[in-house]
Amino acid sequence: MTKIVIIGGVAGGASCAARLRRQDEAAQITIFEKGPFVSFANCGLPYYIGNVITQEDELLLADPILFEERFRIDARVRHEVKSIDRENKIVTVCNLKSGETYDEPYDQLVLSPGATPIRPPLPGIDTPGIFTIRSVPDSNQVKSWIEMHHVDRAVVIGGGFIGLEMAENLVHRDIKVNLIERDRQIMPALDREMTKPVVEALEKNGIGLLLGDSVTSFEQTERDIKVSTEAGRSIHADMVILAIGVAPDSSLAREAGLELTDRGHIVVNAKLQTSDPDIYAVGDAVQVTHAITGQPCVLPLAGPANRQGRIAADVISGRERTFRGVQGTSVCGLFDVTLAATGMTEKQLAGSDVDYSAIYAHPNDHVGYYPGATPISMKLLFDNRDGRVLGAQAVGKKGVERRIDVIAMAIQKGATVYDLEEAELCYAPQYGAAKDPINILGMIGSNIMRGDLRITPWGDIGKEGAVVLDVRSYSEIAISPIVDKGEVKHIPLNELRDRLEELNRDAPIHVSCAVGARANNAVRLLNHRGFNASLLPGGTLTLACLNYCSDDGSRTTRAAPVHFDPLVALHEAVSPLSGLPLWLLQEIKANGILKEYRLGQGESITLKASAITDILVLANGEIDVIELDQISRHLSSTESKRRPVKLSSHESKTFYARTPSTLYRIDQEFLDFFDSWFAMVENLSQERPDLKEILSGMRRPSVFLNVPLTNVQEALKRTRLVEAKAGEVIIRQGEKPDNFYLIVEGAADVYQSDPIEGGEPQLVNHMESGDHFGEDAFIIEGTRSATVKLTRDSRLLALDGDDFKRLISKPLDDHVDHSTAKIQVDQGLRQLLDVRYEEEWYEERIPGAILIPLPELRVRINELDKNQGYIIYCHAGKRSAVADMILKNHGFKSAWMLEGIRDWPYVVEKGL
Ligand code: FAD
Repeated sequence: MTKIVIIGGVAGGASCAARLRRQDEAAQITIFEKGPFVSFANCGLPYYIGNVITQEDELLLADPILFEERFRIDARVRHEVKSIDRENKIVTVCNLKSGETYDEPYDQLVLSPGATPIRPPLPGIDTPGIFTIRSVPDSNQVKSWIEMHHVDRAVVIGGGFIGLEMAENLVHRDIKVNLIERDRQIMPALDREMTKPVVEALEKNGIGLLLGDSVTSFEQTERDIKVSTEAGRSIHADMVILAIGVAPDSSLAREAGLELTDRGHIVVNAKLQTSDPDIYAVGDAVQVTHAITGQPCVLPLAGPANRQGRIAADVISGRERTFRGVQGTSVCGLFDVTLAATGMTEKQLAGSDVDYSAIYAHPNDHVGYYPGATPISMKLLFDNRDGRVLGAQAVGKKGVERRIDVIAMAIQKGATVYDLEEAELCYAPQYGAAKDPINILGMIGSNIMRGDLRITPWGDIGKEGAVVLDVRSYSEIAISPIVDKGEVKHIPLNELRDRLEELNRDAPIHVSCAVGARANNAVRLLNHRGFNASLLPGGTLTLACLNYCSDDGSRTTRAAPVHFDPLVALHEAVSPLSGLPLWLLQEIKANGILKEYRLGQGESITLKASAITDILVLANGEIDVIELDQISRHLSSTESKRRPVKLSSHESKTFYARTPSTLYRIDQEFLDFFDSWFAMVENLSQERPDLKEILSGMRRPSVFLNVPLTNVQEALKRTRLVEAKAGEVIIRQGEKPDNFYLIVEGAADVYQSDPIEGGEPQLVNHMESGDHFGEDAFIIEGTRSATVKLTRDSRLLALDGDDFKRLISKPLDDHVDHSTAKIQVDQGLRQLLDVRYEEEWYEERIPGAILIPLPELRVRINELDKNQGYIIYCHAGKRSAVADMILKNHGFKSAWMLEGIRDWPYVVEKGL
């Protein structure tokens, strides 16, 4: 009778034992497991800590009694194997309960000892409250610590899947989490741009993310643990979770003289035999072969461990089996986002000599007309020589893992993009689409392989004199233009055939739309008409992902809500200049209006303002401002009062970072606009008190940026509240625009179908209270570019488009130009009133002007004289227009200066 001993009784070991019994009823099988449980679900541990899995025994998949009764397998828990005597084929075992040590002979030995979480030898690493997670007892310790110490703040170190799952589960327990990751991205299984939705999910759930920074020490303070980082941060927490990776638990193998790699993994052949043919090894402790590259690699995941355990059992029982290797298929769920990947990433391919293409698509998980469709962002990598699929990544809310699983299988079978194009997959409205996302990726790839479609990677946009062509609708461009990519020509797809003469036949044309579908049509149309056009893959949705990670600074720092938030710092600096609430600033940042520059130590950047004035604020770090080769100012984020730096029109300044720093830049015009917006809302609410709360919570009021707010106020006075039911279609693609809507309460989905090919409408956006839609009502020509359907019973504020157009075509305000203002003031007919901030006033002002900042105007109105006429000015004319409305409302005689002090051609006063 063969005697088989297995060391390690969880994923690899337990699978091996059970399979051995099924293959050989006569074998004598013994498992030694040093922990208290065999066959427990380590993958469920984070959820047990988060109380999603509530009972410990739910994690226990089998126990020694079950092994004995069902399989006649002798599973001995709390038994640690201390050494292997290969010559005599004996293991020495210590019974951890009794302390007794004994020898156990074997004919064949299987090692499945797993891997141990890494605990780096940093100062203070043994401080109580710093945990790693591997076993049920580890998890119980964390749970008790949370309860006993009333943990409120935690630091998670490591942004791989265990770190992320732990962060999520701590949030489930109402703990504020800061996650520190040394790399510039989380989730190494994905390329960096694909992590954007995950980062957003973390931030949305209040997790502070510190990327590109690493921990240098831990210190026990009187109240908590101080975590110090290389970038000089100190983060205080009640608990720390270390999830920075695992090291193979291969000390037994090493002592037994088995061959190991430099990193300590056990070397095995395809039959999973170690350098001793009677000893097999499986799971996290072994080195395996990458199925695509054929190179050695490691992949500490449960799937490979289980499969290897089974294969080792087959080989031991005389079957001809070999392990195929791994390809890195993995999935992780975080809040409502799922991310999954298989095969090679672009990071890996970029460093190889493989000639590959990367394509993107953002299809819905199921057809848009069936409720609840959500988009999946997908990336596919394939070999340009033969179309062989090399890797895929996907992020979305639903249907993500199914698509990656299918592609994983395709990769295993050596499939090509043509196979994905032809794949016959499940379809019914609630599950997919007749063209499944996998087919779509295959179609794009096959078009490229057959030479029907050329792509230009976003990194090459505009190169070699190419013209960038955006074929989205006017309203889409108004909301999210392509910026910082040189000159972008805009021709909506529907107008392209009639406007071909506007394009240069001699220059390459790089075409984009929102997700790539319309751009594909445009590219094909242009190339049939003799142009040289190519597609920017995945449209502006992909660009947004790429922009998120386009920084080349050595440090990437994002929000850490507990102790340091660059946006809060910015808010502190800008709020004396503007009434911007923090949430709006966050939105401005998310919409790319706020530009962010991250500088590594010793790096510098020269910034030049265009025609408008820009404001720069240092969020963190130490920076020297250099003008004409001289340091003109030193900025420090620790200054108690951060004063912003102005960049007047066409002026340039160089910013040199003494330490890693983040600068934010915003147009003064935006700040002016938002100031004016809130003042206008306040003013309007005198007449329509019902609108105050509604408009104060309106997202992206900048839709009115280029319209005089005096007129907007008149138009908003005419708005009406309408009630509508869930399921109601409020506007329909292709119809004439009538109203503009703001969602007061409720929610809606936005659908769009390809304007040329038609086809099924795809879900492109979801909106909630505070969002607005139907801007096309303000555009004179054209039809609705999308359909909006309510998903909840809603209250909407409707603004009649015709009313609005009529009102904006007839300016209502009373403005004067610079020379008229100068004459009237010089003749003593009018008093100048400056409504900017004190800081701006001290910088420069028009002689003789009095100062009342716009946000204070209403409460300080009694300081003004009703018998006096006023000419109001500000920086560029936005705030003064609203101040004029306020004065008129209070019965003053006033006018405002159209162009503000920015372009004032006469003498100004400066300083105190
Ligand atoms: P293990 O399952 O770790 O088993 C090794 C066992 O050997 C241990 O119990 C150890 O006590 C025992 N042992 C070691 N030395 C001795 C000795 N000398 N004597 C006796 N016993 C010994 N993978 C996924 O694919 N998906 C997931 O979602 C996922 N989530 C995870 C979450 C967490 C918190 C953790 C820790 C891991 C997760 N994994 C996940 C990884 C997965 O659990 C491992 O890849 C898998 O368990 C490895 O199997 P193994 O048999 O090699 O090692």
